[in-house]
Amino acid sequence: MEAMGRELSALFALAGTEISVHQDAPIVYLGSTRHVLYVAFRGHCGFSAQIAPRTSQRVLARLATVDGKLQPLLTVDCDAVAETIAPHMAGDDRKRGDELYGRALGRVIAHEVFHWVAHRVNHNHSELFSEGMSARTLLADYTTFDSGELHVLRVNR
Ligand SMILES: [Zn+2]
Repeated sequence: MEAMGRELSALFALAGTEISVHQDAPIVYLGSTRHVLYVAFRGHCGFSAQIAPRTSQRVLARLATVDGKLQPLLTVDCDAVAETIAPHMAGDDRKRGDELYGRALGRVIAHEVFHWVAHRVNHNHSELFSEGMSARTLLADYTTFDSGELHVLRVNR
């Protein structure tokens, strides 16, 4: 959770946006914030050394839609995220697997937050907003929204 929150803060700070993660959102006072997204995590949300590679093309996360309109309800498939990155992690990576996994979850969530804030259904070919986020992007030491995406985030924050 910490690594996930750190990554989200870092990704959105570049757009001048503060993002905060609350684990008890329904009972916490969120203040007068413009965007509130509810995130549901499915599957086993932890990293272990015995994660099999992904066998199916499961989506990592999705925003709910109603009549084609995006809704602020996001579902993350924790197993799909772990299975995507695990085969690309060397021994040293696995030793800090929890941290890298949390960071990857942050990037997956950032992608969905961009869908929501930008009100965009269609993807582009950037690192964070392409349709299938690669293990490389999820595991990279550093990634960022590109300048066009940062602009969109800044305008809609
Ligand atoms: Zn997407």
